[in-house]
Amino acid sequence: MAIATVNPATGERIREFDALGEKELEQKVALAAEAFAGQRRTSFAERAELLRRTAGILEEEAEALGRIATLEMGKTRPAAVAEVRKSAAGCRWYADHGEEMLADQPWPVERARVFTRYEPLGPVLAVMPWNFPYWQVFRFAAPALIAGNVGLLKHASNVPQVALAIEDVFRRAGWPDGVFQSLLVPSSAVEGLLGDDRIRAATLTGSEPAGREVGAAAGRNIKPSVLELGGSDAFVVLPSADLAKAVESAVQSRILNNGQSCINAKRFIVHREIAGEFTRQVTERMAALTVGDPAKDDTDLGPLSSADAVETLHRQVTDTVRAGARLHTGGETVAGPGFYYPPTVLTDIPDGSPGQHEEFFGPVALIWQAEDLDDAIRIANDSPFGLGGSAWTTDPAEQERLITEIETGMVYFNEFTQSTPEVPFGGVKNSGYGRELASFGPRTFVNAKTVWLA
Ligand code: NAP
Repeated sequence: MAIATVNPATGERIREFDALGEKELEQKVALAAEAFAGQRRTSFAERAELLRRTAGILEEEAEALGRIATLEMGKTRPAAVAEVRKSAAGCRWYADHGEEMLADQPWPVERARVFTRYEPLGPVLAVMPWNFPYWQVFRFAAPALIAGNVGLLKHASNVPQVALAIEDVFRRAGWPDGVFQSLLVPSSAVEGLLGDDRIRAATLTGSEPAGREVGAAAGRNIKPSVLELGGSDAFVVLPSADLAKAVESAVQSRILNNGQSCINAKRFIVHREIAGEFTRQVTERMAALTVGDPAKDDTDLGPLSSADAVETLHRQVTDTVRAGARLHTGGETVAGPGFYYPPTVLTDIPDGSPGQHEEFFGPVALIWQAEDLDDAIRIANDSPFGLGGSAWTTDPAEQERLITEIETGMVYFNEFTQSTPEVPFGGVKNSGYGRELASFGPRTFVNAKTVWLA
């Protein structure tokens, strides 16, 4: 895949970038190792101050930085600006709380003073996706850097200008040279990087196939890794729910980021008593959305990230319909330039069709009718993924069963799943392993060193 900016709203190829040559890549890895030697001796206070300055730049330049994301991957202007601000908030959160999260942890031993010290590991390779091109990077970088690590970013090939803008923000904030670098390299370079002894760990946010490759390469090199992969989150609606709120949130969550978030609600599992009404209202709202230029303020839904993404999604929809699903709205490709796909609603999803087990990365709502709570839990768990999900019920007994029985890393009640600095984030099953954010983030890439002082 070429490293290039292609505007998804028009299909126009704006700019291509050369991948780093072998020598340049070597220089950058060497610089990262050198930067770590200095960085590991800095104090929390120094690193926190640099994170605050990073946040300040992100806040001041949110509009301009947001425009680059809209240009490269098509998210709407308000969503892009909000994402940059959220990245700033993430930096501030770890500037304020990182030190206490990584404080020495004492152990109750009578004959000695024993504690765990959390030491940084070194340069960490972050392989990141285009869909939240700022937030995914800062979600890794703020906790990793507050712990004293240094970051090497291999960003997705379609967001090179965001990758370079992030590196520039860190540089202008005053971080020493080499503490955060963007590597413009193809994904084929990742294996070699993980074989380099100077790189001590890896984190990947992206698809399941990429996760398998990067997790395997990290394993071969005995390096810790975090995998934040795809999802097909369930959105379970039971009769005690506030239906109006559930419908509104269902649509909001499904179209978030033009339908391309790992934690979009993707599979709607609705109790039979309310399934008809829920489907009618969701269809009406989906059909009424304004699809168009993401740079315009009245746009609800911008384009998908690429022509390939449209093709994949359309194949999934047509194959699911061909297998017997019922199409309520959408389902036709949009003529003209740009990578648009209409809001689409499907019900009666047949077993064995793509709708049952694949991730639909675009504005397509898949709706199931459940007989009762048992059936809803069965359908929710009938997925290779286990990232997030939400359930809409005010009944404490139902909530307790869902907490215990839903096979996901996160379950939200009466709100859709979110990613926010103070709350742990991550999945199970094919959605990956490891957790980011909260105190898990800073404690991920550390040597938890046991210290025994007799
Ligand atoms: P992707 O193709 O896996 O790309 C993600 C990153 O991995 C890119 O930097 C890509 O580089 C790189 N990559 C791809 N194949 C690789 C390989 N074999 N070895 C090493 N690196 C490789 O993912 P995507 O389709 O663009 O992103 C969407 C996916 O990410 C969805 O499945 C979504 O659910 C998931 N996601 C998960 C989370 C989460 O937190 N769990 C958050 C956001 C997105 P190139 O661009 O150069 O190919």
